[in-house]
Amino acid sequence: MHSMNVRLFRLFGIPVEINLSWLLILALMTWTFATGFYPDVLPDAGRTELWMLGFATAILLFVSILLHEFSHSLVAARNGLPIRKITLFLFGGVAQMERDVDNPTVELKMAAAGPLMSVALAALFFALSKIFAGQRFAHVLMHNLAYVNMLVLVFNMVPGFPLDGGRILRAAIWRRTGNIQKATRIASRIGNAFAIVLMIYGVVNLFGGVVIGGLWLVFIGFFLKQAAQSGYLLVTFRQTLGHLRVSDVMRSPVVTVDAAESLRRLVDEYVLRHHYASFPVIDGGKLAGMVSLKDVKRVDMARWNEARVGEVADREIVKYALRPEYPAETLVGLMMKKGYGRLPVTDDEGAVVGIVSRRDLMETIKMMAYLEE
Ligand SMILES: [Zn+2]
Repeated sequence: MHSMNVRLFRLFGIPVEINLSWLLILALMTWTFATGFYPDVLPDAGRTELWMLGFATAILLFVSILLHEFSHSLVAARNGLPIRKITLFLFGGVAQMERDVDNPTVELKMAAAGPLMSVALAALFFALSKIFAGQRFAHVLMHNLAYVNMLVLVFNMVPGFPLDGGRILRAAIWRRTGNIQKATRIASRIGNAFAIVLMIYGVVNLFGGVVIGGLWLVFIGFFLKQAAQSGYLLVTFRQTLGHLRVSDVMRSPVVTVDAAESLRRLVDEYVLRHHYASFPVIDGGKLAGMVSLKDVKRVDMARWNEARVGEVADREIVKYALRPEYPAETLVGLMMKKGYGRLPVTDDEGAVVGIVSRRDLMETIKMMAYLEE
């Protein structure tokens, strides 16, 4: 998904990106409004006018959602939580924070800021619809936008995580119990249940002949269900890994390859024998990089006898070598964001003492989460 983001502009110093999926949504929304809504309200309008109104609605809704997202971010920034960027995708947005919220009161303020902005926008568009009372198209457009912003508000206030209402509920439970994991679990379950109800209602609509409305409901429900699950997983990750160190997750001893070995021997003696896709490379007793099947594949098979492991290894990774005493949480960032599947662990002298794989990490998280339930 990362490569599908396009940087638009900066606002208050925060970069705003759109996910390319948003273009599809923009087209879908324009179409929905132009064919499913405005023809009923303005029966005598021409095709071009209907499509222009539909497009204007979709764009102004985009701006409304951006402002909603921004109000969350500004409150976050004010409370010392810098925002790295805002990505708009599907029908919503995600503000990426440098750090996680560590206090329920701040979370409460942050979560409430968005809905308050939506209320303000609804009021503004309603006022504009009164001002443009004499111009039929502008009046209908503004009136519709007031209505749509109210819908955004109502939808976001459903008390299921990760919607704003769910965040408010989570913050409230968190403040009472002091247990963020439990609070997140309850709020995510409600979010999940709400998502399922939306999807079922959407399917009922589909079969009842309300195709566009039904599809939207199924679509939003599906997105929400995923968000509820991943939001919960992320908190579980942080919570369970909180007490662990890299040494708790790593595997040792490790099979390492000398930089002077040939690629032929690497394939025959290491890959085929140990069934790993990558190995730490050692040069003079110290970690010199990682070598993977991908690196081997770049070299012509005819050269495998002469080519040395040291020539093809990824040496960048030495920078990210872990220490046994590091908190296990650092792994999540490196493995999930940078996409490393296996990372070497070294001691003070640079000798390899262990290795962490994504699978081991996931398994540890699963076991710890199971024990804590
Ligand atoms: Zn929001």
